[in-house]
Amino acid sequence: LSWASATACNSPVNSPAGARLQEVAPSFLVRGARIGGGSFAVIAGPCAVEESLDLPVLARKLAASGACALRGGAFKPRSSPSAFQGLGEPGLLALAAARAASRLPIITEVLDPRDLPLLCAHADVLQVGSRNMHNGALLREVGRAGLPVLLKRGMSATLDEFLHAAEFVASGGCTRIVLCERGLRHFDPAVRNLLDLSAVPALQQRARLPVIVDPSHGTGRASLVPSMMAAAAAAGADGLLVEVHPHPTTALCDAAQALDPAAFTSAMRAVEAVLHALGRELTRLPEPAALTAS
Ligand code: PEP
Ligand code: MN
Repeated sequence: LSWASATACNSPVNSPAGARLQEVAPSFLVRGARIGGGSFAVIAGPCAVEESLDLPVLARKLAASGACALRGGAFKPRSSPSAFQGLGEPGLLALAAARAASRLPIITEVLDPRDLPLLCAHADVLQVGSRNMHNGALLREVGRAGLPVLLKRGMSATLDEFLHAAEFVASGGCTRIVLCERGLRHFDPAVRNLLDLSAVPALQQRARLPVIVDPSHGTGRASLVPSMMAAAAAAGADGLLVEVHPHPTTALCDAAQALDPAAFTSAMRAVEAVLHALGRELTRLPEPAALTAS
């Protein structure tokens, strides 16, 4: 039985392969931030951690606008080996400092299983990017690492292939997996990728994993990102992954698609309006115990 033949709405897939995904959590907490389970988790941050970025200041702004997690790459999968590849360990330390300043949990990408001990020492969630969605050996190792995993859809992957990739992660023992639709390769250079919003309900009908949407890579153009953020909320997504940079024109990576903090704030107001109309809410970080106790 293939994923494609499992069309019954909201019923778990009953194939031997799908059985593995029935073990995964429909929702889970990351440092108090709920992913899945009806609330809408917005993950935001720069494509890459850069030396000159004031990440703590950016993280506090993102949190104030309604983000519940900070995402930034320390190891970047670039199309060219001469492009900026990320800061590596200093980037992870910068993310940890931003977490301390903002309380936002941090999400960062893994490219190489040899980096897992270092990444696990700092990160709260491991991201596997589009280019590695088909790398079963990496997926299995990441699934063994003990952290939740954010798995992005391969740039030309079918939904079957995407769900099988999630099974590889689950086969390593991971039960906390969030899927991320990030657009598909296509024929029209007007947008970088073709964002497949129908993947949101289609995936939710086939498996019980949370599904979020990345409108930044999904369009490649900052001017299109706010509309697609709201559209993803309307489509029933479990959240968003949005690239935000304090000065997008200077970004070392994916400059054309990054929102600045003001644009992110106003886009989040529209997202909240859509969620409100649907009777849903943004995931918020719980108040620190010290504050709620007083
Ligand atoms: C990213 O999230 O910055 C990234 C490289 O995305 P993708 O793997 O979807 O291309
Ligand atoms: Mn990027």
